[in-house]
Amino acid sequence: MKDRRKPRPGIDSNWAGGIRLRTINLIVFIAVLVAAAVLIYGIHSMTDNYHDLRAATNTNLACQDAAKDLTDASDYLTNQARAFAVSGDLQYLNNCFEEAKQTKRRDKALDILKANMPESEALLYLQDALDKSVALMEKEYYSMCLVIDAKGYDLRMMPKDLRQTQLTAEDKKLSPEEQIELARSILFDEDYQNEKDMIASNAERCLDQVMHTIDNNQEQSFARMERTMHWVIAMVVLLLLMFLALVVIINNMVVRPLKASIDSINKKMTLPLNGAYELQYMASVYNRMLRENQEHHDRLAYEAIHDRLTGAYNRAGFEERYHTVDKNNIALVLIDIDYFKEINDTYGHSVGDMVLKRVVRLIQAYFRAEDYICRIGGDEFAVIMLFSDSSMRNQVLEKIQTINSLLQEPVNDLPAASLSVGVAFGDRKDPTDDMFKDADAALYEVKRAGRKGCAFYGEENVEKC
Ligand code: GH3
Ligand code: MG
Repeated sequence: MKDRRKPRPGIDSNWAGGIRLRTINLIVFIAVLVAAAVLIYGIHSMTDNYHDLRAATNTNLACQDAAKDLTDASDYLTNQARAFAVSGDLQYLNNCFEEAKQTKRRDKALDILKANMPESEALLYLQDALDKSVALMEKEYYSMCLVIDAKGYDLRMMPKDLRQTQLTAEDKKLSPEEQIELARSILFDEDYQNEKDMIASNAERCLDQVMHTIDNNQEQSFARMERTMHWVIAMVVLLLLMFLALVVIINNMVVRPLKASIDSINKKMTLPLNGAYELQYMASVYNRMLRENQEHHDRLAYEAIHDRLTGAYNRAGFEERYHTVDKNNIALVLIDIDYFKEINDTYGHSVGDMVLKRVVRLIQAYFRAEDYICRIGGDEFAVIMLFSDSSMRNQVLEKIQTINSLLQEPVNDLPAASLSVGVAFGDRKDPTDDMFKDADAALYEVKRAGRKGCAFYGEENVEKC
């Protein structure tokens, strides 16, 4: 597989790569997705826990109510039976049967417990309480039958359970008052009360068990909820941390490098190679283009002021320098090759070019490095000698003499040549306001005097050399 991180041709070779924004994007996307999934799962199971807890609490409350209902129903039956025994009012008897046969709170309570807490200890207790309550009803029926007999009510009009209850022959013989007394004592005696207490105690134990189960269930549900809540909190913190990390990464990989790049662009400098891969790639391409542009610009600027043939400053280069230097502190040396046309005509243009180059090489060799050497016309040259005055007259003359004597000797098939030179110093005598014109006038004098010589403006003599 192709190495995508490898710098491509044509970009800055210093470029080392960097993490791709696409990679960061993918990592963050996956991390956020995972965290969000865990968070949603956490919230979902927390909601489930909550519903479970609610359902368990409702169930437990229903069981609690059932246990209470059974005691209440049992007490109600006792009270109605006792009231009937005391008053003989049939309404109490009817109430009793309505509760036992129609309302059936005790049976319903047991059904609720069977449905919600099957095979629990609570159910056993409640079942036992119900059995005892049913058993107790036999006594109540017997007591009721005694009252019915005493009051002379028609037994055939009474509920089936009473019709099936047989009074003993002995009790049948009792007087109505005695029967009423016996009926009351059955419902108020110690045996009856003990059985009532056992029913109440079983119902209470059932209630305790229900409460115990409620506590257990709630404890477990709360523990589960707490665990889920810790998960949710951890995921929220993780998401926040990831968000923070994202901000830091974007700041370091994008914002700061972009800011640094903008600063560099404003200062026309190369861009720093840091930040994300994509930014480094762009910076690298920009840097290469900037360097090429600079090189191109430098080359054009150089060519604008230099002579292509000899490498000396050209006319434009001369003008630029000549106008910026302090004219009082320089020497302007104008040089013209003698009979150059003849050299061209005799040896050809290319030989003429070689002569031009040789002349420049010799001027460069004998003038100082800080002097500006310029080709200002076809075979005309100017040297701007910086920090010079007329005290250097002889030194200048010596240079010209040396160059001219060297030019006399043919080298590499080049013909001999000579130079005519006019010099004007900044501190010359009788200057006009144009130094160039004065140096040119001196040069003219040399040409007029037969060429191959040097004249200084302000002097009458032409030095032959
Ligand atoms: P004088 O002694 O009076 O200076 O005579 P001259 O023959 O040197 O005359 P002038 O200075 O007027 O001639 C300059 C000649 O230089 C004319 C032109 O053909 C030639 N020339 C100009 N530019 C170039 C160039 O780039 N190469 C060559 N080979 N010759 C050039
Ligand atoms: Mg000439």
